[in-house]
Parts: sequence; C-alpha cells; structure tokens
Amino acid sequence: MTALDETHDPQATSWVEGADGHPEFPVQNLPLGVFSPPGGGKRGGIAIGDFVLDLAAVAGLLGRDASDAARLAAGETLNPLFADGNAAADALRKGVFALLTDAASERDVKSALLPASECRLHLPFAVGDYTDFYTGIHHAMNVGKQFRPDNPLLPNYKYVPIGYHGRASSIRPSGGDVRRPQGQRKGAGDAPEFGPSQRLDYELEMGIWTSGSNELGSDVKIADAAKHIAGLCLLNDWSARDLQAWEYQPLGPFLAKNFHSTVSPWVVTSAALAPFRVAQPPRPEGDPSPLPYLLDADDQAHGAYAIEMEVHLITARMRDAGLPPERLSKGPMTAMYWTAAQLVAHHTVNGCNLQPGDLLGTGTLSSKARETFGSMLELSEGGKSPLTLANGETRSFLEDGDEVIMTARAARDGCRTIGFGECRARIAG
Ligand code: CA
Repeated sequence: MTALDETHDPQATSWVEGADGHPEFPVQNLPLGVFSPPGGGKRGGIAIGDFVLDLAAVAGLLGRDASDAARLAAGETLNPLFADGNAAADALRKGVFALLTDAASERDVKSALLPASECRLHLPFAVGDYTDFYTGIHHAMNVGKQFRPDNPLLPNYKYVPIGYHGRASSIRPSGGDVRRPQGQRKGAGDAPEFGPSQRLDYELEMGIWTSGSNELGSDVKIADAAKHIAGLCLLNDWSARDLQAWEYQPLGPFLAKNFHSTVSPWVVTSAALAPFRVAQPPRPEGDPSPLPYLLDADDQAHGAYAIEMEVHLITARMRDAGLPPERLSKGPMTAMYWTAAQLVAHHTVNGCNLQPGDLLGTGTLSSKARETFGSMLELSEGGKSPLTLANGETRSFLEDGDEVIMTARAARDGCRTIGFGECRARIAG
C-alpha cells in the first residue's frame, strides 16, 4: 500500500485561485490527463481547481525525477509515464505538489495554468486492451433474477472473477455523443427483428487503468498487483439490453456492448487514492474463501476504496425547461465482490500480459438498496416498473436526447475529499 506523505495533508493549501475550495480538484488530488489548449496539440496535464497545468511547460522548474516524469507525460498519451510502473507519476505528483503549494513558485508557474473550460480533454491513454469484469454481486443477482429467478448467481461466481474482453477502439472520453446502435433482437417466433435498440441502458462502473507490464507467460502475484494500478476513472459501459439478450449465449457480450464506452478523462492516481484505501468488506457467512492466488492479507485489509458514485439524468424536456439533472442513484465502490488487485492477479494468472494503459472495468456497481442500483435494467426491473422523474416523464430505458452524467468522490474522515470529474454523454439517436 502506498505510504501517506505531505501530498495527502488535508491542511495543505495552494496559491492557485479557487483550488482550496474546489469540490473535486484540490491540491491533494492532482489527477493526470491529456488535454489540448485552444489552438494547441495534445499534451499531458494535471487538474488543479478550475485550471489545467501544462506539464511540459513546468518540466524545467522541477527536480530531476519529477522533471523527467513531466517530459514522459508531455506527449499525446500517458502510456510512457506509466511504462515502468507508478514511480515516475509519484515523483511528478510530489514535484507538482511542491510547486502548487509554494507561493514563491506562483510567478514562474502561473503562465502554465490554463482555464479548464477552454481546454479539450482526451483519452488519457492509447488503450491497447479493455476488459470488463462483473464484480458487482448485487448487480449480478439483480440481473440473474430476471433471467433465472430460482438460480440468479451461477456456481462459478464466488470462485472466479467473471469478465470478458471488450473493445478498446470505441472507448471515448466524457462529452461525446452516443449513437443508438441497431441490431438484432428476439422476435415473436424463432426469427429475430432488426432495428435500433429499444432497450438502451447505461452501466455505472469504475475503470482501473493499469501501470507497468508483465511479460507474456508470466503472472502478477496478488501481493504485487496493486503496484500495477495507475489509477481510477469512471466508466459507463453503454449496453443495448435487447441486442444483449439475443446474442449473449454462448460466448457472451458482443455488439450489445462494443458500440461505445465512455470514461471520465482524469486519472485519479493510486497515490492520490492512498488515504481512501479501506478493508475489503468480509464475505457473507458461508461464502468460499478466495483461492490462494487471489488472497493476500494486505489486499484484504486495504484493497477496497472509500469512493461514492452517482448517476444523474437530464432528458431533452428537462433541458428545454431549464431543469437541472436528476439523480438516479448513489452507491459505494465497496459493492465489489473482488478487489482491483484480485482482478489484476486473476487477469494475468494464465500468463496473459497486461500493458500500461489497459482498462479494466469493475462491472456495474449496485448495492442492496434500490437507490444504489447502477443501471436502468435494475431500476426499472427490466422495464416492468418504469421510473417516474420529477417532471412527470417516465423511463424504462434511455430515450434519444437523454444525457447520463456519472460522478464520483473519494471521501473519508480526516481526509480532504477528492473527485473524478464527469463521465457524461448524450444519446444522439
Ligand atoms: Ca459492464
């Protein structure tokens, strides 16, 4: 587990205007991303308050390790920064923290700060591979019940972290429109119907960006797995439920999922999240213990995250009426049945090689209570109980013009709360 240092001090303050009161990006966060300023090319940056710090522009002001790291982060992706693990990003965090907390640096650094509202945010990594897991056990139960009321959870669930390989090329940063997919869905008889999806849904997930690599044929041991986590983001795994129901057997999700996935563009690093590591909730009485290759005492003691996630919806009618987005759910990331480190260890146990900037989705994170459900499939019980919004509109699934906004905060007593920014996209039709 990452040790705490001066960068986690909840009393630390920055000379950057508005940073100390910022709900998401105070100086204790310093998330990494890739942005382009007006008229400029893509480059690495750090969010501080309502500004983005251009890392290349401050490389010359940093000590040697942090300066080298800033140069690794100056290109169009963060893959080089995390090529050898988290050490470079950790050095950069310490260096940038010193610059942004020392009033004497203001004169030299100020010109490297750009208003975030004027910058365009991009994917932080060139994503080589994307794997989506299914760690939300309540989500798995809720969905399983709709298909198999008597036997919602399949017998492998509590032994093996379930996942499938997703599509990396269709991952987009927050803000891009989503085109409603068309495809096959079950018809009245044996033959399918064809057309635009009628059951388009979102899935509230966290994304785990990987750091470093393991050689093909080697595995990452559970005790080392946390070192392979660069940081986290929000992930919306858009899902066409009607296409999914028709195509998923026998090989799993395909066109129902790979048409678009949205991520929040800032990487909230493992170092920033160190104060928010909490114990993995104990498994219910009678559940099997994880197999030895997935079990590590330190991971069980610190492998979960104190992060709360929310989903908001704004419809076209709400937007036209000037209404604010409405919250659909709020729930904790501790809904994961497996830790992030267990996902890394399991993914590599067969010798599969992870690379820097791979994306691992947690799967939809729902807890027991309805107000924590992370998909519309669960909130509307498969469309049987449509939601009624405050303006009287109803929803079983997403309509054209609907915009889904996901947010997350890491919060814990004695710590400065930090946020993830938005994971937002609109169904364009
Ligand atoms: Ca998913």
